[in-house]
Amino acid sequence: MQTHLLGYPRIGSNRELKKACENYWSGKIVLDELLEVGKTIVHSNWTLQKEAGIDLIPCNDFSYYDQVLDMTLTVGAIPERYQEIALKKSDPDLYFAMARGFQKDGLDITAMEMTKWFDTNYHYIVPEFQKNQEFRLFSNKIIQEFISAQQAGINAKPVIIGLLTYLLLGKEKEEGFDKLDLAQNLLPVYIQILTELENHGAEYIQFDEPFLALDLNEKAKETYLFIYTEIRKQFPNLKFIVASYFDGLKDNLSLAASLPVDVLHIDLVRAPGQLDEVLQAIPQTMSVSLGIVDGRNIWKNDFERSLQFIEKAIHTIGSERVFIAPSCSLLHSPFDLDSEKNEDILSPEIKQWLAFAKQKVYEIVVLKKLASGNADYQALQQYAENKKAIDTRKTSTLIHNQKVKDRVELTTEDDAKRNSPFSTRKEEQQKVLQLPLFPTTTIGSFPQTKEVRTWRSKFKKGELTAAQYDDLLKKETERTIRWQEEIGIDVLVHGEFERNDMVEYFGEQLDGFAFTQNGWVQSYGSRCVKPPVIYGDVHRPHPMTVYWSQYAQSLTQKWVKGMLTGPVTILQWSFVRDDQPRSVTCKQIALAIRDEVNDLEKAGIRIIQIDEPAIREGLPLRKSEWQQYLEWAVEAFRISASGVEDTTQIHTHMCYSEFNDIIQNIADMDADVITIECSRSQMELLQAFADFKYPNEIGPGVYDIHSPRVPSKEEMIHLLKKAQAVIPAQQLWVNPDCGLKTRHWDETEKALIAMVEASKDAASAY
Ligand code: GLN
Ligand code: ZN
Repeated sequence: MQTHLLGYPRIGSNRELKKACENYWSGKIVLDELLEVGKTIVHSNWTLQKEAGIDLIPCNDFSYYDQVLDMTLTVGAIPERYQEIALKKSDPDLYFAMARGFQKDGLDITAMEMTKWFDTNYHYIVPEFQKNQEFRLFSNKIIQEFISAQQAGINAKPVIIGLLTYLLLGKEKEEGFDKLDLAQNLLPVYIQILTELENHGAEYIQFDEPFLALDLNEKAKETYLFIYTEIRKQFPNLKFIVASYFDGLKDNLSLAASLPVDVLHIDLVRAPGQLDEVLQAIPQTMSVSLGIVDGRNIWKNDFERSLQFIEKAIHTIGSERVFIAPSCSLLHSPFDLDSEKNEDILSPEIKQWLAFAKQKVYEIVVLKKLASGNADYQALQQYAENKKAIDTRKTSTLIHNQKVKDRVELTTEDDAKRNSPFSTRKEEQQKVLQLPLFPTTTIGSFPQTKEVRTWRSKFKKGELTAAQYDDLLKKETERTIRWQEEIGIDVLVHGEFERNDMVEYFGEQLDGFAFTQNGWVQSYGSRCVKPPVIYGDVHRPHPMTVYWSQYAQSLTQKWVKGMLTGPVTILQWSFVRDDQPRSVTCKQIALAIRDEVNDLEKAGIRIIQIDEPAIREGLPLRKSEWQQYLEWAVEAFRISASGVEDTTQIHTHMCYSEFNDIIQNIADMDADVITIECSRSQMELLQAFADFKYPNEIGPGVYDIHSPRVPSKEEMIHLLKKAQAVIPAQQLWVNPDCGLKTRHWDETEKALIAMVEASKDAASAY
């Protein structure tokens, strides 16, 4: 029996990588300093795993921005528009330009598209493919990381995105071909990488193939078999681990079992039911890696239950053919529970139920000891402690609130319906709101400057009084309101300066949520999030946003939009309790948000946005399970939005979504206005709304806020024209792709001024 990990978090125990990257980008440190930080993180991850006793330690799971972008560089799939940078600049410049765009030294190049990594909140950079896409070994990062692991005395297992998964993650940038046809071209590069790894003494290679847990067509299945057969032919001696995760293999099981590889990794957290089938299906030459410790959640592993799985596997195929691992890469777990020292933030009662990445490493090691029958005293003691923690969670009075459970029971269909249909509401709202054609707005947040964050941290440390903090935030809010008035935005926002994060801010004010000090998880590039922990029944003890919205509205004659995070997004971006269905937890949150929406209306706020950027990422990976999810997710949104009068305008906002296949459900949400991220796709995403004849109003983002690049007015006019070509002008709003919290003020100012001008030009040209 062997233990291994599919990957480890790479931001560093104190987000060192985030800080170093941002300092490098802003010119505060040089490349060598950045590389030094990366190296330190990689080595401390390896050492930690080695000392814990993990048998096979992943390498190349580290990345300065994104592992898919790394692969794109590795195989040299560099889009045409970066050729100039590739020639003129250094490799890191090229790498970060592809990730973030490049606007310097007379060059002005947009970033590559970014999208969600399966159903997680991690975002990867989407590979771009041309019809005659060529590949060549461009970056040797994989090999170098393996060599440095070896030099550090680590039994390293290179982690490589599987060839099929890499292709399937990408996007065809021209018509007339199927990206799967590129497999032939790409194979030689994989062979070259494997040759070098073998020459340097690699033994195990992990291919991440999460697509094996998704719906695959026949051609994809055939290509899978073809590619792995070819690879096997060339490398009879390497040991290949193929890792599936995020769902069960289901109808792909016979394919997976037929691949000529040595180890098949399965996700037993998402799909515990598949173990028997898998054990029956795999040939004698294949081992199974049991993904038994949840890589995506923070609950302590239930040793008793895991041991049943492991023992079954040992009993059926023998312990030599069993590997134990987390369900997926620990990239999606926070770093270390030990750094949660403040009991006022995370109480010991809740903390005893949790395990972060480092703790999960030890869980794997203890499970191996327990399962191999030679558990030492310490392991037995850990088993007893584990059982105690699991049992107290089942019975804790911290978790259950009967009033909340009753209210969920009593919620009816009517609670999820507005009073009148959209056409009536639209008229009523226009009478009150009197908005122009192509009304302009933003998505909510304005730059969270260093000062704003410093105020918050000083306030938390007690270095600022509540009154002082309040005063500073009010000034920043007022300045932002004034500035929006000045440049002529139609629907203003207060700027969200009081919020650390769009989910944490709400969680902090709701019962049933717990927090961490340092439980950061990478979201994209240097951006990290700190998801709250939903451990108990959710209840809103008091209004959460009324104070700030009311204050902002009191400053101006223009409309200020109230700003809330929706129930599905709060659920999706939290670590969710696993002791009741997610749908029930979601409904509890929906009722809390509903109360807030109603209170905002009572306070005179006429436009309220309920952000639901995470609706789509919550979709089950298998189509057959979509309908069920969409039903409860859409219902939760409607419960939150439907307590108001017809005259109150409900907005929602979504980013990074493909809308084609869920457009009916988005229409069912029945928000009066939806704003979406659209600019990186050049309005392509809008087509789904056009084809559907989406009846409500819609604001397709006209500029990309994930890049520091400032768009010109002309670019935005161009996008607006594209939008007008498919959506009637009376339905269109003008806004950026998303909130501006990660941007600087100077970029924001220039971009929004140009955006308002673009809207005015479009209106006068109409
Ligand atoms: N209102 C939020 C903001 O502007 C929305 C962010 C999001 O969609 N991710 O920051
Ligand atoms: Zn957004």
